[in-house]
Amino acid sequence: MTKLTDNLLDLVFPPGLYCSCCGKITDSSMPYHLCSSCMDQIKWATGRTCSKCGKPLSDTDPADTCYSCREHEHLYDRGYTCAEYGSCERALIFNLKYNGRTDIAPILGEAIFDMLEARGVITAGAGGIRYDIILPVPMSRAKQLARGYNQAELIARELSLRCGIPYSTRIIERTRSTRALRGLSPDERRLEMTGAFAPCHDESLIRGRSFLILDDIYTTGATIDACAGVLKDSGAGVVDFVSFASGADVVK
Ligand SMILES: [Zn+2]
Ligand SMILES: [Zn+2]
Repeated sequence: MTKLTDNLLDLVFPPGLYCSCCGKITDSSMPYHLCSSCMDQIKWATGRTCSKCGKPLSDTDPADTCYSCREHEHLYDRGYTCAEYGSCERALIFNLKYNGRTDIAPILGEAIFDMLEARGVITAGAGGIRYDIILPVPMSRAKQLARGYNQAELIARELSLRCGIPYSTRIIERTRSTRALRGLSPDERRLEMTGAFAPCHDESLIRGRSFLILDDIYTTGATIDACAGVLKDSGAGVVDFVSFASGADVVK
């Protein structure tokens, strides 16, 4: 982001004056620049969560993993999420990805930091306790060029500033563009993502290191597993992931 763009964004969206979700004028003391109504609507993952992927568990599901994790093995070690994907979460992510609202990325990074800190996974400024590197999910070169930024990278930058663990975009890369996964079944998603990532350099940057993969949203885990598979095949240690929002635990 250029300074000029930052300044222009500040003029259009003065930090803290407008709710980052619904756009209504809000009290600047509210966390994450949200109005009280949106703050209440966000389904924060503060109750029972899946012991594998971290998504909030359905009240009707007594198991300690979600239905999706019981149906599909994952290549990552474990995941964490801030909230269940609902209308507010959708608005925040949509505005960040498709409306150029890059000012939302630091807000999501802050929410992710607060959640991970509350769970004892990371601490402020103390460096990598559990992870050597935060790894934002890479976008294809063409897509990033069209959008102008990778939203996962912008969120990772804020998380990195807060916890002191470096982030890197030079560990793995997209080998090809993939279709939008929306509307595809879990198996179709997996097939679509197979071979979509590869190490950027030789495996020495990966071997023996622990990673926290970061994405804006987690649904079936096909994208995260594709990244985690490459890292594990290259000798990575712990590979966890964090997302701002996760799809609901739908028991079938
Ligand atoms: Zn609002
Ligand atoms: Zn799960």
